Amino acid sequence: MAEVRVPPVVRESATAGDLLALLRSGRAATRSDLRAVTGLSRTAVVARVNALAESGLVLLGAELASTGGRPAGSLVVNHLAGIVLTAAIGRSRSQVAIYDLGGTELSASAVDHEIGAGPDDVMPGVAEHLRTLLTPDLPPVLGIGVSLPGVVDPERGVSVDTPVMAGWDGVPLAPYLDGIAAAPLFLANDADAMARSEFLGHASSVRDVLVVKASTGIGLGVIADGRIISGSRGGAGDLGHTKVPEAVGRPCRCGDVGCLETLAAGWALVARLREEGRTVEHIRDLVAQALVGDAEAKQLLRESGRQVGELLAVAINLLNPQAVVLGGDMAAAYDVYAAGVREAVYARASALATRELQFLPATYGDRAGLVGCATHALDQVLSPAAIDARLARSRT
Ligand SMILES: [Zn+2]
Repeated sequence: MAEVRVPPVVRESATAGDLLALLRSGRAATRSDLRAVTGLSRTAVVARVNALAESGLVLLGAELASTGGRPAGSLVVNHLAGIVLTAAIGRSRSQVAIYDLGGTELSASAVDHEIGAGPDDVMPGVAEHLRTLLTPDLPPVLGIGVSLPGVVDPERGVSVDTPVMAGWDGVPLAPYLDGIAAAPLFLANDADAMARSEFLGHASSVRDVLVVKASTGIGLGVIADGRIISGSRGGAGDLGHTKVPEAVGRPCRCGDVGCLETLAAGWALVARLREEGRTVEHIRDLVAQALVGDAEAKQLLRESGRQVGELLAVAINLLNPQAVVLGGDMAAAYDVYAAGVREAVYARASALATRELQFLPATYGDRAGLVGCATHALDQVLSPAAIDARLARSRT
């Protein structure tokens, strides 16, 4: 068969890093796939694949023969060529975990801390838990993915506006983890991290998705045309601190008044039940009561869903997503919460925007933040540019 003719610029432009990205995405699984997709010559593909194999990132068919089941000539990304560390930091609880390069969780743990504790109180515990998980048999750490509530500056690795976590703004997080691994830190907002987890879930098949994080606070991760939208200052998706008429004058934990969170956030629902003399510490307690049929808890969750849905309807009309994912602690009572959200969205959003709109639970449930941190770190450390730089370093 005649070789597909492609312009010379394309012909030699795909790098080893690009080929690894094709193998990771499943768009190619053999050298001939790689030639067909990139238009590279046979010699060029062999040279780039050999470089990837020498670095340990790709396993060649011959090495895989013993494992059986794969055709000769198969190329497989070696998921054990490295690991990433993750920490999803919350207001009262932080989760930590280790993932391989294929996004499989190898080990995990959680750290409880005082509500509102600063980085000097929280980060050493996070570091210690990660250190415990890092057993000597594990491959090298390539990156560290961390998420925080609030607005973050991913370039500097600092929180820039987290009014609900006092003392975190402007404090670099990397130094706290320096002693564990010499690897770059990738910081994300918590709702964005939850959205990134859907790149391995619902957003692997659709390109426009809104991901609601309904927990102690309320956030929104926006995936538009297959990409996370952070906005010009990182503040995209700050649904919870949008002013709504029903909340006029109500003080919010952000220091302002009249925010959606004062009606719909987990902290506000917990406060309301406590005012009535009921024993609830955390929104997870209220959700647990709803799940065993407590009428008032169910009513509060449904109403929260409705309040969120009213603002979400605007986002749905703006962005016309295929799916809305509902995650976070409140979405654990999915049927109740989703019923409230749907009620308001269908009442407010346009017929066109809702005609084929799907509502879905978060693919990874209460692990979504960790999976999102892992996805974020993996996409950076395995990016074509990062891989090419790594191969260039190993040659010198
Ligand atoms: Zn607020």
